[in-house]
Amino acid sequence: MPAFTIAIDGPAAAGKGTLAKRLSAHYALPYLDTGLLYRAVGAIAAAGGGDLDDPAAMAAIAAGLDAALIEEEPLRGHEAGERASRVAAHPPVREALTAFQRAFAARPEGAVLDGRDIGTVICPDAAVKIFVTASPEVRARRRTDELLAKGRDVDYARILFEVRQRDARDAGRSVAPLKAAEDAHLLDTSALDIDAAFRAACQIVDGALSRR
Ligand code: C5P
Repeated sequence: MPAFTIAIDGPAAAGKGTLAKRLSAHYALPYLDTGLLYRAVGAIAAAGGGDLDDPAAMAAIAAGLDAALIEEEPLRGHEAGERASRVAAHPPVREALTAFQRAFAARPEGAVLDGRDIGTVICPDAAVKIFVTASPEVRARRRTDELLAKGRDVDYARILFEVRQRDARDAGRSVAPLKAAEDAHLLDTSALDIDAAFRAACQIVDGALSRR
């Protein structure tokens, strides 16, 4: 039987990461946050003065990336996300990161991966695909509250603008654009808190497990 892989895709700040981590813990499956790979490429490039718009240079960084060395905390935040989104638009960067992601997805014990193209490109045969969305306004509100809780001085209107901008870039690029796979379950979390979203996701996963 193929590995039990759960593919979680969706736009920025929809709650994918929180959901994917909880599913990973609940079903005892290893978890890969694929956004971190792109964030790491952008951060290494920025630290070395590299040109984020140079596909070959960015692909060379991606090819040399050691996922085991990626530290999550410094890569969180809006700037790192913006850099990630820029380098992620280069096809050679995506190609350089594909084999690692596919190998993770094919682990015999199963896996949970979250990103933008897991159900469409990385793992089209995933046992379960969930496309997590929420309206831009709800996502911007959540992001604003998150940052305010950390004591940051933020402006909702600015964050909403950034959320829309990132959506447009991720959905509009020519390669692996953000879109739901045809066989993905849509999970709109606009009116759900994290517990309700988690319960809805578990129902989808349990359904897939019972059909195996
Ligand atoms: O999910 P996260 O916000 O960390 O992703 C940062 C950026 O990396 C996204 O906006 C997107 O441009 C890119 N990305 C991607 N494909 C993935 C994961 C992330 O293009 N599988």
